[in-house]
Amino acid sequence: MHRDCPEHIRVRLRAVQVRYIAMCGDIEIGTLIVDERLVGDIEAIFALALCIEYRFTSIVPIHVYNWDDTLSMSANNSSGFNYRCVEGTYELSLHAFGMAVDLNPLRNPMIMRGVMHPACGIADTNHESSLFPDHPIVIRFKELGWTWGGDWTEPYDPHHFQKDLRTAAI
Ligand SMILES: [Zn+2]
Repeated sequence: MHRDCPEHIRVRLRAVQVRYIAMCGDIEIGTLIVDERLVGDIEAIFALALCIEYRFTSIVPIHVYNWDDTLSMSANNSSGFNYRCVEGTYELSLHAFGMAVDLNPLRNPMIMRGVMHPACGIADTNHESSLFPDHPIVIRFKELGWTWGGDWTEPYDPHHFQKDLRTAAI
């Protein structure tokens, strides 16, 4: 666990084991770390992803990449918890609370002030792992009350989904 992450966040984090279809077609097991109140949502999303054969390259916790989001995104790794700030700010990201996940970030790169993140991102909307407004994964996340970064313009962040529970009743 990240050394700076406060106890009240740490105690709520859960490692969710998810079955997914790898790009090669094999079924694999990944791990996403999220707030305990989001485990059911994540399980629902990954059940849908399996059903529609939406594929992933890799799903491992970001500490495998030494907490380096750029390295993780460049490897097209999908992830949840990361104790970090919003890109380009000193404000904690919802990833720091386990309330955000990034799916196939290399294939759905963020565009901020005209710059692509990760820099090696591939914004090919025809690729099978591209996310778009009427994609079943995007629709399901929204039904579950999540916000999609692909609806934002600055930054445009189509790999990012978040559900802010910071003010929710415990
Ligand atoms: Zn994100």
